[in-house]
Amino acid sequence: MKFEPVIGLEIHAQLQTRTKIFCGCSTAFGAPPNSQVCPVCLGMPGALPVLNRVAVDYAIKAALALGCDIQPLSIFARKNYFYPDLPKGYQISQYERPLALGGGLDISVGGRSARVGLTRIHMEEDAGKSLHEGFPDSDRRTYIDYNRSGVPLIEIVTEPDMRSAAEAAEFFERLRDILVWLGVNDGNMEEGSVRCDANVSVRPAGQERFGTKAEVKNINSFRYLEKALEYEIDRQIELIERGGRVVQETRLWDSAGGRTVSMRSKEEAHDYRYFPEPDLPPLVVSDARIAAVRETMPELPEARRQRFVAAYGLPQYDAGVLTSSAGLGDYFEQVAATSRHPKAASNWVMGELLRTIKERGVTIEQVPLTPAALAGLIALVEKGTISSSIAKDVFAKMYDTGRSADEIVAAEGLAQNSDEDALLAIVRAVIARNAEAAAQFRAGKSQTFGFLVGQVMKGSGGKANPKLANELLRRELQQT
Ligand SMILES: [Zn+2]
Repeated sequence: MKFEPVIGLEIHAQLQTRTKIFCGCSTAFGAPPNSQVCPVCLGMPGALPVLNRVAVDYAIKAALALGCDIQPLSIFARKNYFYPDLPKGYQISQYERPLALGGGLDISVGGRSARVGLTRIHMEEDAGKSLHEGFPDSDRRTYIDYNRSGVPLIEIVTEPDMRSAAEAAEFFERLRDILVWLGVNDGNMEEGSVRCDANVSVRPAGQERFGTKAEVKNINSFRYLEKALEYEIDRQIELIERGGRVVQETRLWDSAGGRTVSMRSKEEAHDYRYFPEPDLPPLVVSDARIAAVRETMPELPEARRQRFVAAYGLPQYDAGVLTSSAGLGDYFEQVAATSRHPKAASNWVMGELLRTIKERGVTIEQVPLTPAALAGLIALVEKGTISSSIAKDVFAKMYDTGRSADEIVAAEGLAQNSDEDALLAIVRAVIARNAEAAAQFRAGKSQTFGFLVGQVMKGSGGKANPKLANELLRRELQQT
């Protein structure tokens, strides 16, 4: 029997605010344990939460970018459960009335394009962090760091619209890129800024009804998500084929063992005894506020890609590469504007610049070469002052020394030789030295022409203007 996987994701993304969602404590990562805490985020009796305005604006921004409907009124609730990293005994989270509904994101994997719908986006606070390792008595004790307690999160819940592990990984990555692009999340997966829970079930191909799903929790890498889902899909199919039944449960991905393992049976919503948070008023979002947030939104990748094709006449492929990050697109636009040669700007940014970035392991923001300096190099090539092969050497020197293209070309005498008399002398000398090749060309063997051009270029130390060298060589060969 052929089976079809059905996958939905729940993605938790930290909002990049300076302070926590309900208190003024810093959210900076990496501070000494329990140094960024106060009575509110430690859950002391009587401490009262105050909602962080910037966190709400960031959540609205993410929801708008994903095409969601922002709800005029949403409500924070208490999700009750006991865990040592949750000092209040409950998490403040939006439940029945979330901030945003609907929306979605288009993905394309292996030729299949799909729209992944969103169910909702809601706001909540993060819990602290249990440290099970790294202390002399870690075999007996667990330590807890509450710095993360109360860091603002959005949870993005999708519809069960994905049909393969690869599609789920693609969605997760595209979503993360958009949040980073918007500036609402720092995208740091290792620090847990974006984490994903996946609900996965399988059903016989053609069957409408969903199978029983298992949830794989807390995955912070696109690759692990894909591997965990592949494993889980195979496990469920094998179980059903052997006559077994999938049970609804929460599983963990064991990256070292390359498998998912059962953690606990899945809770139902009623286990959490949700009720509205009495210490916070309903969150009211006015149309004016939505409009104000919309004003601060950058152009989104898809819109920018289309604009690059239309405004600069770039091929789709170029536009796709150049809009893969906000920084790269900004860099390209500055080079294109200053040089007024968009296609040349695209070639340099996609070619030498990206290659160098990859080689050096730096980000576009760390590149020392300014867009104006690169535009200066492009101008020299376009004017015919230097050949494109010499320009690549100049590029490397500019990148490493910070000197301008003009400076390097002048100091090293790299300008192309367009002096007709000097070139003619080289051409004549090449013909004299290679009489046989010249005779073959005249006898109709046109292949030897390339060889002779090569000799002229070599004779000029690579600096001959190739177009002029070609013309002179052809003229001389025909005359004599
Ligand atoms: Zn605090």
